[in-house]
Amino acid sequence: MAYKISDECLACGTCKGECPVEAISEGEKYSINPDVCIDCGTCAGVCPVEAISPAE
Ligand code: SF4
Repeated sequence: MAYKISDECLACGTCKGECPVEAISEGEKYSINPDVCIDCGTCAGVCPVEAISPAE
């Protein structure tokens, strides 16, 4: 299971540098590659608007 970034994303870029496996890509909204994510939760902890959570 991977983490997901919701529409709340401000594209601030805070999470991208924290991911240990570089699973996060830039864009209008950032996104997480589920095939690369190791489900560590680091990004969720640093997001200023709590836009990142475990995928259902
Ligand atoms: Fe990267 Fe961990 Fe967030 Fe997955 S949960 S995108 S591995 S920081």
